[in-house]
Amino acid sequence: MNRHTSFDLPICLAVEEDAFFHSDDIIKRYIPDIIGQKALVVSEEFLIGIYKEKITDISHDFGDAEILAMESASFDEAVAIAKKVCMEDIRVIIGIGGGRVLDTAKYAAHISKAVYICMPTSLSNDSLASPFSVLETTGRARRTLTCNIPTAIIVDTNMIINAPIGQTLSGIGDTIAKDTALYDWKLAARRSSSQTEDFAYALSRMSFDSVYHCDQKDMQSRVFIRILSRALVMGGLAMEIAGSSRPCSGSEHLFAHAIEEYYPEIKVSHGIAVALGTIPACIFQGRDASGLIGAFRTYGLDVSPESYGITKDMFADMWEKARTVRPGRITILDEVKPDRVQLDEIYSRMTEGV
Ligand SMILES: [Zn+2]
Repeated sequence: MNRHTSFDLPICLAVEEDAFFHSDDIIKRYIPDIIGQKALVVSEEFLIGIYKEKITDISHDFGDAEILAMESASFDEAVAIAKKVCMEDIRVIIGIGGGRVLDTAKYAAHISKAVYICMPTSLSNDSLASPFSVLETTGRARRTLTCNIPTAIIVDTNMIINAPIGQTLSGIGDTIAKDTALYDWKLAARRSSSQTEDFAYALSRMSFDSVYHCDQKDMQSRVFIRILSRALVMGGLAMEIAGSSRPCSGSEHLFAHAIEEYYPEIKVSHGIAVALGTIPACIFQGRDASGLIGAFRTYGLDVSPESYGITKDMFADMWEKARTVRPGRITILDEVKPDRVQLDEIYSRMTEGV
């Protein structure tokens, strides 16, 4: 692993009640020089419908910025937005939405060199502050592209409280999964006689700890939303500092990628798929998974594969596919090959939640 020496940090991470109604005040506090610059709000039609009042208010805050409803979370869409931004001398892109919107807006800002302000409507995974965008492309389902991280991240606690609980659970899953990701990162470093980045490692570990050891388990409390927002952003920054997704992505993510790529009919959000991968990954790593199972249970995150329509056969096949889904990514799957008996046992244990 090569040492990554250059990285950016966001100027602002504001987690406030009704933050979307006073985003101009927040921006004035942190990055006053962008006030008055031409801005573009990027969101999706259905979100603009649901959050009309808030999104219109944000547009007013930025000089009646145009509100663009993107049509797809694709590379072409990001390029089209970037082209508009360059042609119309727009300096600021404000992404308001979930992962699809935020990844597209982030990449559009990256190629047009605009300032990017990220305003998530849910906390479903750690891509909100990561240096990657996952976009649809023709020919290949989705691609992960490197890009700049946001300049500002503004989280409206009221918005997250009202988001579907499944999205917050997904964010919790993506955060707790850092436990097995960090183990795999160390293992990969050992095998290639290199080092993990200490600071990136520490940030990702802190992200995990903050949610795993959190006393406040009420997912709709402002305290918890603040903790989860910070945890997801810390994960993104760990990736930025490491210059790779390794601090946040190990064998449990390979399992999630295997579901995405080979079982598109299984409708499970990224963070939940990753949570389902974390328990077996922990067991493959030769560690006790009862702490992780207990943590998921306290948040009410169901880790039974059966609940998501994953059968024993599919589960075994998903782990087989996980071995080859990202060639070159060294994880515990390069060291152990669980047999069908062990996989069935893990499946039953997860179904029973013990
Ligand atoms: Zn993830």
